[in-house]
Amino acid sequence: MLAVKNYQFWFCTGSQDLYGEECLGHVAEHSAKIVEQLNVSGMLPYEIVLKPTMITNERIRRTFQEANLDENCAGVITWMHTFSPAKSWIIGLQEYRKPLLHLHTQFNEALPYDTIDMDFMNENQSAHGDREYGHIVSRMGIERKIIVGHWSDAIVQSRIASWMRTAVGVVESSHIRVMRVADNMRNVAVTEGDKVEAQIKFGWEVDAYPVNEIAESVESVSQADTNALVEEYYDRYEILLEGRDPEEFRRHVAVQAQIELGFERFLEEKNYQAIVTHFGDLGALKQLPGLAIQRLMEKGYGFGAEGDWKVAAMVRLMKVMTAGMKDAKGVSMLEDYTYHFTKGKEGILQAHMLEICPSIADGAIAIRCQPLSMGDREDPARLVFTAKEGKGIAVSMIDLGNRFRLIINDVDCKKTEKPMPKLPVATNFWTPQPDLYTGAEAWILAGGAHHTAFTYDLTAEQMGDWANAMGIEAVYIDKDTKIRDFKKDLMLGNLFYA
Ligand code: MN
Repeated sequence: MLAVKNYQFWFCTGSQDLYGEECLGHVAEHSAKIVEQLNVSGMLPYEIVLKPTMITNERIRRTFQEANLDENCAGVITWMHTFSPAKSWIIGLQEYRKPLLHLHTQFNEALPYDTIDMDFMNENQSAHGDREYGHIVSRMGIERKIIVGHWSDAIVQSRIASWMRTAVGVVESSHIRVMRVADNMRNVAVTEGDKVEAQIKFGWEVDAYPVNEIAESVESVSQADTNALVEEYYDRYEILLEGRDPEEFRRHVAVQAQIELGFERFLEEKNYQAIVTHFGDLGALKQLPGLAIQRLMEKGYGFGAEGDWKVAAMVRLMKVMTAGMKDAKGVSMLEDYTYHFTKGKEGILQAHMLEICPSIADGAIAIRCQPLSMGDREDPARLVFTAKEGKGIAVSMIDLGNRFRLIINDVDCKKTEKPMPKLPVATNFWTPQPDLYTGAEAWILAGGAHHTAFTYDLTAEQMGDWANAMGIEAVYIDKDTKIRDFKKDLMLGNLFYA
């Protein structure tokens, strides 16, 4: 499900023919060496492909047009080795539509004190050429990332790697299709939004289906397929009967197995990568999809509860951006539920009725079967666990009526002081930065929702860059947040994006 395309990034070096063939030969050699070394560094999630040196308007324009059309190209990395008159870049940049990285580097790391002469200076003048190029990109108001430093530096390489994931998020955003099973929960404001505007801004396609169409798909899953999946569950997860009859328990679990298979087939057949449900509108489904949705999220589907399609799309986006990441710690939808206000140990207990992705689980995962306090269905089976510790980000995409805003909060995930044996749902517990009081105040001031898309594996910088590439406001709540300054950030955003 989470097979993300084998994307490539094009490396385009700028120069001009003023310095002669020999110099251009060196430029090409140096670029080839940099690309080769970056590719073998083991730091980058995607391959870099070297393009011929950019020295004329025509070549620059053609290269950018080809980059637009090449389905495997997720972005272009530009670097001016020598001086490249920036007017030559105008038409190409005007036509370019994918993510752009300006790698401000140079071939040599140190000044060659003993041998440096004017030939060397003319051949190695990125400090000069990259300013000419940067000027035109700024003048044209084009969104791009700038990374400064020597190309062999591990910090520079990891920043390129991080930008590549943002770029893939930008390119893949337009492939996100959200299936809405039932409408948003009645009267709830924050899960609503302008779906047409979301398609214009982010490329998301958000379509509704009658709940009973997907319920039919569930009903058509065979007993044999269902039983095989139940076996897999019983092998993989702890079974916590809690006094229930083992056969009755198993029948409840089987309902979720059938939902998982039926939903997955329906989503695959219709090519959707994210889904929303609503506990109050379940049609012929026997249980609220719990365990089933948890498993689908683990496979890479986005999910939002109570019709929250913005969260479903954001969860899918984060799944895509972290695809194939070594030692990834997980992505999930979460919901701010209950506070712990004990001094020095403050935090927010994150959970949902059922639907938390097991990719964020720490240690054992158990199946429990308990009544829901809402709705009118059978007691649903669900996966229960606690989440990993560590730094993460929680994001909320809100619709302000005339525009979208992405709120990004750095959070520190912790273990709760004590277990919560009577709580039959998966949980995460975090303290928002800079602290619970300021973090929650800022979140509420910004209009942040109770549902979030959460991950340990991306940074605020990556999500903010993604938002900016989409042309929307990103606001950050982190260790530096002070309410007075934060209010000014919001005022500036209101002016700029109005
Ligand atoms: Mn909810």
